[in-house]
Amino acid sequence: MKPIYVTKPSMPDLNDYMKEIESLFDSHWITNMGQKHKALEKKLVEVMEISNVTLFTNGHLALEAAVDALDLSGEVITTPFTFASTTHSLVRKGIEPVFCDINDHDYTIDVDRIEALVTEKTSAIMPVHIYGSICDVEGIQKLADKYGLKVLYDGAHAFGVKYKGEPVAGFGDMTMFSFHATKVFNTIEGGALTSTNDKYKPVLNGLKNFGITGQNKVDFVGGNAKMNEFQAAMGLCNLRRLQSDIRSRKALYELYLKRLDDVNWIKTLSINKTVESNYAYFPIIIDSSHISRDLVYETLKGHQIYVRKYFYPLTKDFECYGDRFKHMKTPVAEHISNSVLTLPLYPDLTSEEVEYICDRIVSL
Ligand SMILES: *Cc1c(COP(=O)(O)O)cnc(C)c1O
Repeated sequence: MKPIYVTKPSMPDLNDYMKEIESLFDSHWITNMGQKHKALEKKLVEVMEISNVTLFTNGHLALEAAVDALDLSGEVITTPFTFASTTHSLVRKGIEPVFCDINDHDYTIDVDRIEALVTEKTSAIMPVHIYGSICDVEGIQKLADKYGLKVLYDGAHAFGVKYKGEPVAGFGDMTMFSFHATKVFNTIEGGALTSTNDKYKPVLNGLKNFGITGQNKVDFVGGNAKMNEFQAAMGLCNLRRLQSDIRSRKALYELYLKRLDDVNWIKTLSINKTVESNYAYFPIIIDSSHISRDLVYETLKGHQIYVRKYFYPLTKDFECYGDRFKHMKTPVAEHISNSVLTLPLYPDLTSEEVEYICDRIVSL
């Protein structure tokens, strides 16, 4: 067996990509919201079933732009069980993240614990649709309405997911999606913001392009986060394989479930019946009374199976934050973070490889 990595970016057929970028070599219009950028935004409006989509050079800068566009300030209630980007986007914008614990069935923010964290400084809730599981969007909206808070979803994992038949892009005030190479749909690097409120679109366009709103007109202090034409072309190509990619992921996900669901020291992530998943990740929670998570990690590494401790450590415990957030206790998140491994899952992975990985795991 050759080494198996946790993920492998989806790529189009080379000829398909060459055909897509051919016109760029004629026009020399290679960035600044050219044809490919416009075409991808238009296509995504259809695919994501939302009235507007704003593309960014990556998901993180999209998140920072969202914080600006929604005019967030003071404190934002969020989760520590996430990728660095979520927490950093707040701190880099001068906002105090207030960490709420997660629930232990799908690892999203525990709605029952949010209210106790609301203060007069709270401006928003920033939950994360972890692994493609969807947060309790109704419960979150109810609290947001009660206290007049904005809701900004980190939907980096949730591209293409539906909840009770509704596209995930429409929940809250805004949702960020990442199109990084390792995500279900990629534009090499890339990201997008969606909102059901069309008023944000011109603001976001300005924020990603120096605040320029017209010729000789700069209305606010924006940054630069434009998706370039080669990224957008990659997206147009990769969209053509999206449905088949998700089908392949689903088959592998179900095979993992079949092999690992009955193992009494492993807890798998059950997908809620109300969710139409994109099968982005296959996390397992390991019972440390049987074997330590790190020993499973090391043993698999010995077989050249490279799984990930995703997410570990919690963002609030990062070195860069020192003791700043240590007083905020999130025991469930801590437990999950100390027990989780995500297993290899990508469309080109074979069922033989999944069987091989499972054989190694169940014999531990
Ligand atoms: C990938 C990811 C991001 C950041 O997206 P980039 O496109 O890599 O900048 C943010 N949040 C979560 C949860 C992610 O997984």
